[in-house]
Amino acid sequence: MSIISHNLFIEALNAYIDPIKPVDKAIITHAHADHAKPYHNRVLATKDTINIMKIRYGENCAKKFQVIEYGKKININGISITLYPAGHILGSAQILLEDKKNKVLITGDYKTIRDDTAQCFELIKTETLITEATFGLPIFKHPEPEEEIEKLLNSLKVFTNKCHIVGAYALGKAQRVISLLRKKGYDDIIYLHGAVEKITNYYLQRGIKLGKLKKVTKDDVNDLKGKIVIAPPSALKDKWVRKFPDVRYCLASGWMIIKQRVKQSKIELPLVISDHADWNELTSTILNSKAKKIWLTHGRTDALEYWCKKNNINAKALYLKRND
Ligand SMILES: [Zn+2]
Ligand SMILES: [Zn+2]
Repeated sequence: MSIISHNLFIEALNAYIDPIKPVDKAIITHAHADHAKPYHNRVLATKDTINIMKIRYGENCAKKFQVIEYGKKININGISITLYPAGHILGSAQILLEDKKNKVLITGDYKTIRDDTAQCFELIKTETLITEATFGLPIFKHPEPEEEIEKLLNSLKVFTNKCHIVGAYALGKAQRVISLLRKKGYDDIIYLHGAVEKITNYYLQRGIKLGKLKKVTKDDVNDLKGKIVIAPPSALKDKWVRKFPDVRYCLASGWMIIKQRVKQSKIELPLVISDHADWNELTSTILNSKAKKIWLTHGRTDALEYWCKKNNINAKALYLKRND
């Protein structure tokens, strides 16, 4: 019998991983809304994940919280749990479960490339690997994020009168885009939508350097020529955006790799910046983990399942109810 079931329930602990409904005990990989839900009885997660959940859902979003530090093994009912950095966003974790017979690693959302706003991904050897597969097709090869940021900087030089509104998820992507801009030497003030500011303040408090930032208000509207405003992608569609004159619409997302998606949107400058592993990262992580058994969740599982079988690795897709 496995230590964990197909719906990511660990019977010996009476705990679910990233449950989408309130449960007694939840082990949470990271604070993105499709993984971290409010109103569980008990939440076990990294300090950052718990803090961000509290910022988003309120101090009392669970009855009890238990912080698990990266790399520190804890034992409950004969099962040990260890969290390792997943490189996806600040506080994101892979979960390693071990008992006498089993060793199972759940990656959660992850990426292996460098990101100065998240703890660096750690490769863990395991017997069973439960991996995400968001970009699980060979066509998904993410470009260098630095090259994508260069496109934004070039656009600022060409469209000097336009306010560049960059859609980026408020948690993780927004801060990463800012950090990448700073790394490229962009030192002008960066304006933030209110929803982005809240989470960004937490990143600042955690010592992540993001330069000069300002929450954008109505009073700023006339000063935004040639400036950057970071906003959640949803804000690009609602009336919030209409108060800005002469906008250039930009969006930072791994999905911008799909040309059709760009065409169907009003995005003028797509920036392919992803916080998920691409095909090469997924397949090399599978190989390097030395896992004999792979369970695929969360995304494009077919091609990856086929690839595993071709490489003599036992693989199957789990169909969890979830949307990303
Ligand atoms: Zn995520
Ligand atoms: Zn996710």
